[in-house]
Amino acid sequence: MKFKKTCVIFIPVFLAIIKDDWRKNETYSIILKVNRFTFEKEKGERMKTPFERLKINESLQSALSGIGFEKPTEIQERVIPGIINGFDVIGQSQTGSGKTFAFLLPLMHRIDNQKNEVQAVITAPTRELAQQIYNEFLKLSEQLPEDKQIKAKAIVGGTDRKRMAEKLKTVPQMVIGTPGRINDLVKTQELVVYTANMLVVDEADQMLDMGFIEDVDHIASRMANELQMMVFSATVPEKLQPFLKKYMKNPKHVHVEPQHVTAKDIKHVLIQAKHNDKLSKLIKTAKDFNPYFAIVFANTKKTVDEIADAMSAEGMSVERLHGDVPPRTRKNIMKRVQKAEFQFLVATDLAARGIDIKGVSHIINYEFPKDLDFYIHRAGRTARAGMSGICASLFEQTDQHAVQKLKEKKISFQLEQYKNGEWVPVKPSKKASSQKQEDGIYLPKPRKVKPGYKKKMDEQKKKLMKKKRRNTR
Ligand code: AMP
Repeated sequence: MKFKKTCVIFIPVFLAIIKDDWRKNETYSIILKVNRFTFEKEKGERMKTPFERLKINESLQSALSGIGFEKPTEIQERVIPGIINGFDVIGQSQTGSGKTFAFLLPLMHRIDNQKNEVQAVITAPTRELAQQIYNEFLKLSEQLPEDKQIKAKAIVGGTDRKRMAEKLKTVPQMVIGTPGRINDLVKTQELVVYTANMLVVDEADQMLDMGFIEDVDHIASRMANELQMMVFSATVPEKLQPFLKKYMKNPKHVHVEPQHVTAKDIKHVLIQAKHNDKLSKLIKTAKDFNPYFAIVFANTKKTVDEIADAMSAEGMSVERLHGDVPPRTRKNIMKRVQKAEFQFLVATDLAARGIDIKGVSHIINYEFPKDLDFYIHRAGRTARAGMSGICASLFEQTDQHAVQKLKEKKISFQLEQYKNGEWVPVKPSKKASSQKQEDGIYLPKPRKVKPGYKKKMDEQKKKLMKKKRRNTR
């Protein structure tokens, strides 16, 4: 700031001098010296920058300012020092919290670019996520000077294996990929990892769900004996413990509460739907929102296909993402998604988990996820980087329980409908108003018991008791 001020004062003086007399060269040099002195003095006295405090090396610090990162996010602040000092770390935080750089930065800091051997392995459950981590690496790496460059390779399934093995002949210092493909190449020794002593397991709970932990286990067993492991996961389920215990020594456990769960900038909306016309309700809802970019979530690949086909038949600009979409198409969709070349992406949770898509204005849940934690992951895809977002869910009578559970997690819903060109809260009927919930949403009343039903039940009970008594005599 002071430097700027100095410039503001001196530049007009310079101009005046230049205008007056070109021969007063000495005056310029004195002014320049004074200026330089003020700047140097300021530099010496100034506070350390936030990344400097984390002991990230200078070239990485300048690369970070080159990509516009001014200060670390909470997860970065809390795990980077531990990783730099060689500790095992469990980082519990959501996508969007900056967790990719929470492990990339200390790894890049520690890798010795003079050593031509694999030093770090990063594993992620999906190709898209692995590719995204690799892209984040490239983003930073492009800012580094030639002599500080680190060689990294993306190793993902669904690509030509032979070509990949060929490429690995130039040994990378870091590999980023999916466990299956990395393990494949490790088994055949086309990728040698015994030199590497840093292993990152990203989205570990998803790795477990998808049955990849065995592959990770195998990779880890082939790595250096003194292995430093960094596990990142939204949740740390009990079933993950044996794996963690096998490789981690007194890990530093850092839990960053997901801010976006209760963030004011996400509006959680319920839209009433009936089971038999849910698809048309979804299409109408999507059209009424007319979002900048929306992700529509469904629980199965089949439902994703049905929705995407129906939306496409309506002439809507839509793509789909699930496990059966061929790798090439998935890659292409991810590229187009970043450029917002279409308006709706219909996806399953597993395909979309961990993927950072900028500018998602709306999330539309065709159905509530079976595991309600996924509701939070889904909602967290919107309202990023200080923007606001809407997470709308089609709501049926059978979803009451899910809504109740989410309300216990402090998510407050609004029941809305589209009327006269705008979204408005649903006004409760007189009957429903007696059931008003504390957060202002009016859920439909549970179905009434048929008249006379209780009387009938009592009669039946009496009959059964009589019969029982007769039989026991
Ligand atoms: P992630 O949770 O790793 O998917 O990161 C979410 C987004 O935050 C990505 O687009 C990152 O490039 C960005 N990001 C990560 N760290 C920082 C930081 N310190 N400052 C600004 N943006 C960041």
